[in-house]
Amino acid sequence: VRKQAIIPVAHYGGRHLVTMLPGGGIGPECMGHVRDIFKYVGAPIDFERVDIDPTKDNDDDVQYAITTIKRNGVAIKGNIETKSEASYVTSRNVALRNELDMYAYVINCKSYPGVSTRHKDIDLVIVRQNTEGEYAMLEHESVYGVIESMKVVTATNSERVARFAFEYAKKNGRKKVTTVHKANIMKLSDGLFLETAKRIAKEYPELEHNDMIIDNCCMQLVAKPHQFDVMLMTNLYGSIVSNVVCGLLGGAGIFSGRNYGQHYAVFEPGTRNTGTAIAGKNLANPLAMINASVDMLEHLGHHYHADLIRRAVEKTINVDKVLTPDCGGTASSSEVVNSIIHNIGSGVQPFGSI
Ligand code: ADP
Ligand code: MG
Repeated sequence: VRKQAIIPVAHYGGRHLVTMLPGGGIGPECMGHVRDIFKYVGAPIDFERVDIDPTKDNDDDVQYAITTIKRNGVAIKGNIETKSEASYVTSRNVALRNELDMYAYVINCKSYPGVSTRHKDIDLVIVRQNTEGEYAMLEHESVYGVIESMKVVTATNSERVARFAFEYAKKNGRKKVTTVHKANIMKLSDGLFLETAKRIAKEYPELEHNDMIIDNCCMQLVAKPHQFDVMLMTNLYGSIVSNVVCGLLGGAGIFSGRNYGQHYAVFEPGTRNTGTAIAGKNLANPLAMINASVDMLEHLGHHYHADLIRRAVEKTINVDKVLTPDCGGTASSSEVVNSIIHNIGSGVQPFGSI
């Protein structure tokens, strides 16, 4: 079995150095909230901040960011806007994921009782292929007025992400994996993805496996979301499905996502929004980035600090109900952060505290 992301060894007196890419829009202010909370709990993390300027035509910043992530092994990031519409300027976000070969993207979507939503008690996990498919960025105009866009599905990456999903399900006590596809139309590309998932499923007889066409999947999600447990899919379906699910559970501002490869891990808000329109107004929901920072602490083995922050977040959302307007509240970003810091300070004890 292939080893999952390797946790970097801490240097300098048990402290970890991680790359911080604030990104655009609400990214920098959300990173500020993470820093405040880490400072308050004394999380043993130092940040190496790299700013990427999306207006530049060269990708020197991106290359530098990649170098630091290769050195540190771990990063936390906000979304980088792709400002230029020139066809030769590709998304920095996609470039970063591809060059670091982070083939799996994972979002845990579990309802917070304090956020009022149409469906209650949803608990599902989206595992998305993260480096190819419809995001291959191979488009060209073959003859005038005819654009061709390549969707690339490889046996290797289909197998890696399928194995990741089944391993994740097994390790986390999940019962079922649903592979989402459009193999009835895209017979070769999605066909390969689906066949691979079916083959890997045979190695996990203890897990149920079924498959569902993407259009039906969207309808099932909004109507009967409780039937899903772990969901496995290609890149673009993953982007759409994760927005549907986050929308069902309270919006873009709450859940975090994890990019994993064999060597590196990058943590970010799950639906990867820039939030340009609400930037700098103390309006952004800080939870998605804070949850990303908790995932990062977990990945680095700092369970004590992760638990402290997670429990404080849960109390803020579910008990105190201090929420920003995007998920039904009236609080500002900083009121949410202050509530979390207050809850950490008032001793919401994590399990297994030291
Ligand atoms: P844009 O980049 O055009 O500003 P996005 O695609 O980033 O928008 O986000 C989609 C929608 O979700 C927008 O309405 C945005 O304001 C909202 N949104 C995204 N992230 C957050 C957040 N953290 N808090 C509140 N609203 C958010
Ligand atoms: Mg956007």
